[in-house]
Amino acid sequence: MESGPLPDIKERIAGEEVNPDNDSKIEIVQYEHHGRIVSVFEYCKGLHKDVCLCYSCSKFHPGEPDNCPIAQVTYENCVRFGILTPMWECPEFTE
Ligand code: SF4
Repeated sequence: MESGPLPDIKERIAGEEVNPDNDSKIEIVQYEHHGRIVSVFEYCKGLHKDVCLCYSCSKFHPGEPDNCPIAQVTYENCVRFGILTPMWECPEFTE
């Protein structure tokens, strides 16, 4: 299976780019996303699609009637609460 960006993320967490003092304090930033101010670990900002399994899954059809039901309810929950939920693990993933 292809390796994704996770090794890079781990390096960014451990490395000088994110945590120059290696003191386990990682910055949380706020920004406007879809009209709401949200908080996010700075090193995670903008990485949703890189770490979400759905974007590599054959069942993922966003905006279509045959979209994966798990992805669909997750998306609807995100819209409802203004959150962002990458699919980190999934038992139904299919390449
Ligand atoms: S099966 Fe899992 S990984 Fe695939 S689209 Fe649905 S929620 Fe995402």
